[in-house]
Amino acid sequence: MVQNSIKSVTDDHKIIRAFAQIPRHLFVPKEYRALAYQDESLPIGFGQTISQPSLVAEMLSLLQLTGTEKVLEVGAGSGYQTALLSQLANKVYTIERIPKLAKRAYQVLSKLHITNVIVIEGDGTLGLENKAPFDAIIVAASSPHIPRPLVDQLQNQGRIVIPITDEDGGEKLKLGVKNGKTLHTLNCGAVRFVPLVTEQ
Ligand code: SAH
Repeated sequence: MVQNSIKSVTDDHKIIRAFAQIPRHLFVPKEYRALAYQDESLPIGFGQTISQPSLVAEMLSLLQLTGTEKVLEVGAGSGYQTALLSQLANKVYTIERIPKLAKRAYQVLSKLHITNVIVIEGDGTLGLENKAPFDAIIVAASSPHIPRPLVDQLQNQGRIVIPITDEDGGEKLKLGVKNGKTLHTLNCGAVRFVPLVTEQ
């Protein structure tokens, strides 16, 4: 998977090493384990999916992490991307709204002895005010707009990566870089994600 799917997306050695180190099959339900190292998204229950590895690699490379950052992830899902983030940043806070997925992600991360991640059950569209500001924010579910709390909780010069749905149902990956009060955004291609559900 690393040779065929990850190296074609990024030449960042830290990202390539993280993919080589984190065993994706542990984050996939038993019945899909044979497919764990294919470049595919797979069902993880509750109508949700573990993201496609090459897309995760692309999103991680847009964040340009150096290893010192405090990162917020919205949508832990299986916890796979969270585990990769744990290798690339100093501290990771991840929010998941489905309690059973949050619990399962926590259990797999613990089993892998990953200690720089905090899993929080809740609505990630609100961010995590008491741990802000974040150097980077990554959202694994698509939304019609970038939730305001996430922009507010982003550090100056911080980066956010989020899939955005447009009126005709299309989805585009967006990179936002904060400069003072302004968020400069860049379109990074078409993607497909589960929807970001807001409780408000
Ligand atoms: N990167 C994850 C992707 C999981 S799919 C993985 O590879 O496993 C996206 C996840 O976002 C789902 O688990 C869904 O429950 C969660 N989600 C959707 N809306 C959310 C919200 N408002 N707050 C927190 N999590 C949310």
